[in-house]
Amino acid sequence: MNVLDLSLPELGEVLGSWGEPAYRARQVYAGLWRRAVGYGEMTDLPGGLRARLADELPAEVEVLAERLADGGATRKALLRLGGRHVVEAVLMGYPDRVTVCVSSQVGCAMACSFCATGQMGLQGNLTAGEIAAQVRWARGAARELPDTTPRRLSNVVFMGMGEPLANERHTFGAIGRIGDPAGLGIGARHVTVSTVGVVPGIRRLAAEHPQAGLAVSLHAADDELRDRLVPPNRLWPLRQVEAAVAFWRDRTRRRPSIEWAMIRGENDDDRQADLLAGVARRLRAHVNLIPMNPIPGSPAQPTTPERMAGFVGVLRSRGVNVTVRDTRGRDIDAACGQLKWEHDRRGFPQESRSTEERNPHQASSADEVA
Ligand code: SAH
Repeated sequence: MNVLDLSLPELGEVLGSWGEPAYRARQVYAGLWRRAVGYGEMTDLPGGLRARLADELPAEVEVLAERLADGGATRKALLRLGGRHVVEAVLMGYPDRVTVCVSSQVGCAMACSFCATGQMGLQGNLTAGEIAAQVRWARGAARELPDTTPRRLSNVVFMGMGEPLANERHTFGAIGRIGDPAGLGIGARHVTVSTVGVVPGIRRLAAEHPQAGLAVSLHAADDELRDRLVPPNRLWPLRQVEAAVAFWRDRTRRRPSIEWAMIRGENDDDRQADLLAGVARRLRAHVNLIPMNPIPGSPAQPTTPERMAGFVGVLRSRGVNVTVRDTRGRDIDAACGQLKWEHDRRGFPQESRSTEERNPHQASSADEVA
C-alpha cells in the first residue's frame, strides 16, 4: 500500500491497528506532507515505528532523474509513483511565487497534434495521491531554489502530462489532498486546472472546487481548425466549451484563462485573433499566448516574433487582457506540451540522482549528511 494514497483518517486507522496512539498518525502525516520528508528524517518517531512504516507503508516516490535550467530556477523531475507510473513534474521559481506543473495521467488520450504527450496515447491514470505526491516532491525541491525566488511552494498548475478532466475523480481528489491544512495546505485558490475543454468536467469543477482556477486550451476559434488541432473538439465543439466556461465563471466569479499555442501559419493570423477576441470578451477571460514549442513528429513551428506582435496587437486593440508566456525550461525539455516519458525507449537516465523512500536508512542518508 502506498501511504501517499491514504487520507489522515485512513492513516489513523492503519496505525491504530498497529496499536499506535492517535497523535502518531498526525505526526506521520505532517512529516510526509507538510515537511515533505521521508521516514528516515522523522526523528520525532521511535526507530521501530519508522522501520515498520518503511516496510509496510512505503512512500512510493522515486526520483529517477532531475534536471535544472534557468540558473536553477526551473527544475524538472522524472518521478516513478506508486512503483509503476512514470511521469514528469516541473518546478518553476519566479520572483514572487513558486509554481509546480503536475501531471494527471501517464500519456494522454486527447491526441492534440502539436503536443508530445498527445502522441503517446493514454497509458494510465494517476491516483489522487500520486498527483499530490508531485506537489510533495516540489515542496522539498523548492528548498533548493536559488535566491532569485522564494523557497516556499505557492502554486500548482495541472499543465503537465495528461488531461486532468479525463481523470476527474483523482484530479478532484488531488485538489482536496493538496489543500488539506494538516498536510500541504495549498488552497484551491492557488491551484489551476488546465483542460482541453472537457465540457461536463468544467461544470463539475465549478461545483466541486469553486475556488480552483480554470485555464482552457483553445488554440483555435473556429470549429474547422480546432477539430484538426484539438480532436476532442469534435465531441465538445467551441460553442459548448464557451457555454461551459461561462457557466464556470458565473458560478465561481473567477476570471478564466484561455491558452493558445501560437503555431506558424495555422492559428496566428488576424482572423483567428479577431475570433479569439470575441470569445475572450464574452467570457471576460485572460488570454495566455504560448510560444509554440516544436516537438519531434509534428510539423508545427513557432510563430515569428512579428506575427506574435501583430496577434497581440489585434487582441489589445479589442481590449483583451493578454500575456505571452515565458519559455521556461526549454533546454531541458520541460516546456509546455513537451513533457514526455522517454524512459522506456532510452532506458534509465544517467543522471539518476536518488532515491527510493522504501528504506528510510538508505534513502535519507545522503540528505542527512548534506
Ligand atoms: N490537457 C491539458 C493540459 C495540457 S499541457 C490541456 O490541454 O490544457 C498545458 C498546455 O500546453 C496546453 O494548453 C497545451 O495545449 C499546451 N501545449 C501542448 N503542447 C504544446 C507545444 N508543443 N507547444 C506549446 N504549447 C503546448
